[in-house]
Amino acid sequence: MTTPTLSFRATTKTYHHGIVEVPAVRDVDLDLMPGSVTAIMGPSGSGKSTLLHLAAGMVIATAGHVLVNGDDVGRRSPADLARLRRTDVGVVFQQYNLLPTLTALENVTLPLELDGMSLRQARGIAEAALERVGIDPPLDRYPDDLSGGQQQRVAIARAVAVPRRLVLADEPTGALDTQTGDRIMELFSSLAEEGAAVLVVTHEPRVAGYADRVVTLRDGRVVSDTASRPSRPADGRPNTNAGGANLTTTSTSDGSVSPNHSDPSVDDRAWAPADSASTSAHGDIDPTDSSAVAR
Ligand code: ADP
Repeated sequence: MTTPTLSFRATTKTYHHGIVEVPAVRDVDLDLMPGSVTAIMGPSGSGKSTLLHLAAGMVIATAGHVLVNGDDVGRRSPADLARLRRTDVGVVFQQYNLLPTLTALENVTLPLELDGMSLRQARGIAEAALERVGIDPPLDRYPDDLSGGQQQRVAIARAVAVPRRLVLADEPTGALDTQTGDRIMELFSSLAEEGAAVLVVTHEPRVAGYADRVVTLRDGRVVSDTASRPSRPADGRPNTNAGGANLTTTSTSDGSVSPNHSDPSVDDRAWAPADSASTSAHGDIDPTDSSAVAR
């Protein structure tokens, strides 16, 4: 049997604000298989980013387990997790997390060099990745001199510069125009076709339209888990049904079956972008930084 690339097993994450407990993710069970694109949707504060940070090993579960390629992330050292994020797992953060003192190109080459590549090799790979996401030259600009959309694409290029088994992207098209957003989702689809498991947090039905599966969270729980179609179409165009009605299967984390998005409050159009304040605790985390784990 194929090992899931990412598994949540009764995963719970509770944050503590002083004596107040904030349950961000509650008892989630999910398996993401190689070669799949999964969209995570849900209202602001429903736990989407926390789920992604759990998968990246940047937040450690309070209860339950998170497994990447069958390995329990919670048992790995921070240094191991940082290495994992430089090799097997590509992460696109909502706040991009580019290093301000490095140019666009250097932001993509640094993790490659840290992983032992020569500058020349890293540069070639980084340039190809930046080309893939459609970044405009010059690549010697610093993040502060780039538009939000350009910064987002540099962050995506950094995450996908080398082949990944798992790609985690938090609102990866939030700063992009529709055409560029489509290009990025086509890129993610092609990574899945190459065997990666891709998890995309989004509030945009159009983006979710590229997913094979749409998982909806509410108050930290999975409230629907919908296969949107067996595979992406050859033309790479989004499935306009995603996040909407007439989808196939829907199950919940407790194993029950419910009608697709029957809850009127689970409405794509009403969803705002994820609360940036809620992820600010991770906002300045560099994926190569081994101190980036919140336990
Ligand atoms: P979403 O991505 O769906 O907007 P989040 O995962 O960011 O949801 O947040 C879920 C809940 O956890 C929210 O109540 C949020 O305020 C809280 N939360 C998220 N990150 C932290 C943190 N680092 N510290 C404390 N509370 C947090």
